[in-house]
Amino acid sequence: MERIDCKALDDACPLAWTRERFDLPDDLLYFDGNSLGVLPAGAASDIAQTVTEEWGQGLIRGWLEADWFTLARRAGDALAPIIGATEGEVVLTDSTSVNIFKLCAALMKRSATRKHVLMEKDNFPTDGYILEGIIDLLGRGHELQIVPRAEIESALTKNTALALLTHVNYRTGEMFDMAELTRSCRSVGVPVVWDLCHSAGAVPLQLNDWDVDYAVGCTYKFLNGGPGSTSYAYISRSALEGFSPVITGWFSHANQFGFEEGYREADSINKMQVGTPQVLSLRGAFNGIMSYTNVSMESVRDKSLKLSSLFIELAEERLSHHGFDLASPRDAKKRGSQISFYHDEGYAICQALIARNVIPDYREPRILRFGITPLYMRYVDVWDCVDIIADIMEAGSWRAFRSSPKSAVT
Ligand SMILES: *Cc1c(COP(=O)(O)O)cnc(C)c1O
Repeated sequence: MERIDCKALDDACPLAWTRERFDLPDDLLYFDGNSLGVLPAGAASDIAQTVTEEWGQGLIRGWLEADWFTLARRAGDALAPIIGATEGEVVLTDSTSVNIFKLCAALMKRSATRKHVLMEKDNFPTDGYILEGIIDLLGRGHELQIVPRAEIESALTKNTALALLTHVNYRTGEMFDMAELTRSCRSVGVPVVWDLCHSAGAVPLQLNDWDVDYAVGCTYKFLNGGPGSTSYAYISRSALEGFSPVITGWFSHANQFGFEEGYREADSINKMQVGTPQVLSLRGAFNGIMSYTNVSMESVRDKSLKLSSLFIELAEERLSHHGFDLASPRDAKKRGSQISFYHDEGYAICQALIARNVIPDYREPRILRFGITPLYMRYVDVWDCVDIIADIMEAGSWRAFRSSPKSAVT
């Protein structure tokens, strides 16, 4: 495989046109769209208009006239087809961490006798921290069970109150079989909350068809919503009625503008809302979601696997003798939309790459991650990236970054 072959793949790529939907910096190879997505072409002016016109001129009238009031639900309805949900099952609200709390606390509170709360080892840290906090708050003697991914199914028992699972692992990009695990959980009566942070916009999801009842995820990674953009929560239509919120704010009230004295829960997905939505952040999220308009997730998946397979092939050819070990599944069916490598000098290599205008990221321990984002990534980008890594390794230029202090975010 040569660069010219990659160029030919780009020329023939049915998804090449979506790159135009984004404002991308020149000369930058961006492999961190799994941490912070790029700016959709119309987003800056749309957000600016919300600020200067809707807010600046319209002021309080914006809630009705600019439809700020329904933005969280409209964004949820726009996201629904991307994750295999239907209208009225998704709302954008708060952050992923907060939505994990809201879903898990409500489900744990509901289970009277079951005591085990299951999650996988090597999960994203916030998921475990939130569960610890809920266990402490409820004071019902729940116990956190942290088991390796391969043992989740065998750990499910009639004493399991809840499973909190992440569909695609943030370090390795390993993907669970969501349909099968959801079925296993159901067979022993265990509600499962799926964390979709590395899935929505990255891989096809069929939440309805897979009988998923509860899910959360962020919009600032593959969905390109902008830094800290509002997260989404999903509750299936069939699970909605039995779900009672634990944070009972006025935006989840059955009659919000009745200003009643007591709380009555809404009967819609509004019950996952709490307070006044973050309108500016929602504008970003909405633009990001709309960047998937008329794009099938199957075509995204197809290109994603072609890009990641190319990455693996080139890396094996040119990098394996430099100490790079593939951390992501070789089996395409188990691979999300990123490629990770173990390398003892991963941090220094990451810094050396950034100095060359290639942006991956580094995650402890020893993991170099490369996000694969088919809406704007080209085959030549993968070729150039591996070429620059090979150059850094051969010239030894990564050594200059060896002693650089590790910053909080890379
Ligand atoms: C990014 C990520 C989060 C982030 O949660 P925030 O509340 O948005 O900070 C949670 N879970 C997983 C699996 C993630 O990858």
